[in-house]
Amino acid sequence: MALIVQKYGGTSVGSIERIECVADKLIRFKEQGHDLVVVVSAMSGETNRLVELARQIDTQPVPRELDVLLSTGEQVTIALLSMALEKRGQAARSYTGAQVQILTDSAHNKARIREIDDRNIHADLAAGRIVVVAGFQGVDEKGNITTLGRGGSDTTAVALAAGLKAQECQIYTDVDGVYTTDPRMVPEARRLKRITFEEMLELASLGSKVLQIRAVEFAGKYNVPLRVLSSFEEGEGTLITYEEEEMEEALISGIAFNRDEAKLTIVGVPDQPGIASAILEPISDANIEVDMIVQNIAEDSTTDFTFTVHRNDYERAMEILNKISSNLKAREVSGDNKIVKVSLVGVGMRSHAGIASKMFRVLAQEGINIRMISTSEIKISVVIDEKYLELGVRALHETFELEKVS
Ligand code: ADP
Ligand code: ASP
Ligand code: MG
Repeated sequence: MALIVQKYGGTSVGSIERIECVADKLIRFKEQGHDLVVVVSAMSGETNRLVELARQIDTQPVPRELDVLLSTGEQVTIALLSMALEKRGQAARSYTGAQVQILTDSAHNKARIREIDDRNIHADLAAGRIVVVAGFQGVDEKGNITTLGRGGSDTTAVALAAGLKAQECQIYTDVDGVYTTDPRMVPEARRLKRITFEEMLELASLGSKVLQIRAVEFAGKYNVPLRVLSSFEEGEGTLITYEEEEMEEALISGIAFNRDEAKLTIVGVPDQPGIASAILEPISDANIEVDMIVQNIAEDSTTDFTFTVHRNDYERAMEILNKISSNLKAREVSGDNKIVKVSLVGVGMRSHAGIASKMFRVLAQEGINIRMISTSEIKISVVIDEKYLELGVRALHETFELEKVS
């Protein structure tokens, strides 16, 4: 019998009513003859509520204990959903990550899945049960509870689908697929019928939170057919696939944006070997991830060095730069945490020139100043002021005619 792994996100299990709807839906799938492994998130808002509780004790809580706390959100949902199934006469069994076992490394708050013990799951499926697994969590070798980073239930689902060789991994959420951009920002955004793993990976990495990055990576690596669909309405959703020869390549498949950005500049440092590493080493020693980096051409034998970090790391990064700036003989340190990154993504860019210049022209016409630029084979990203985010995304969506994508 064909096995399907399904994942229901926070909104899809956000109330008792929603959980009952999911249970009804699962019964229908079961009646169609599918074996089902179901991964659920915490009820919507719950993980944020727990994070806030922790913050009231300590703004930087001990990572191990934060995981113990956050994992409780998903434990509530697996129990409620299993009860709802049993009430309908459908045998079901819930498992926390540790019970499965979903073995991870020990990197609390951002653990990676290493191995999944699927013996219990196979036995339950053979007995006709629906298996309900808590997303977002696992256990390390020593028995510590770990979590996989925000949005991690997607990754739990894909990892289970890979391990169990499921026919498909279906991610049920509050939109009916992957859109040309976040439909909450641009109402004209269109659902894509398919998108390549490569493009989806770029979109996820550049800020489209519809799928966790690792889930896409995992699905690509293990060739798991992955589909994003709505838990509220019927439809075929968006299939994430490999690029095929005959696939007509859209020039641009989507626009991603990221509000969690901040930039820092160290002004007037001597233009000499070793400067870049002298600036970035203390930043990376503090576990701060650097995204874009730009160094100006030197004038008067000095140069400016700019980079971006996650907005949460802005103050810490600024402190570090202020500390090292006199040693580096820098003129000054400046920064801006009201910036965003907007990116165009599309495999079609490989074979088409002129996309970057068109993008820059549109932004100029809207009076939007570009602060930084970075490109790769299938994406172009710009950093702009936060206040222009919506204007920029809408203008780009219109210029590249994404409302006509089908
Ligand atoms: P879940 O709780 O089901 O995991 P998420 O909030 O994590 O749901 O992801 C779904 C949300 O992702 C949508 O409500 C939408 O606002 C947002 N989103 C961002 N970019 C896109 C996109 N390109 N296509 C679809 N949804 C997107
Ligand atoms: N509940 C977790 C979160 O909000 C995991 C998930 O929903 O995927 O990030
Ligand atoms: Mg999510």
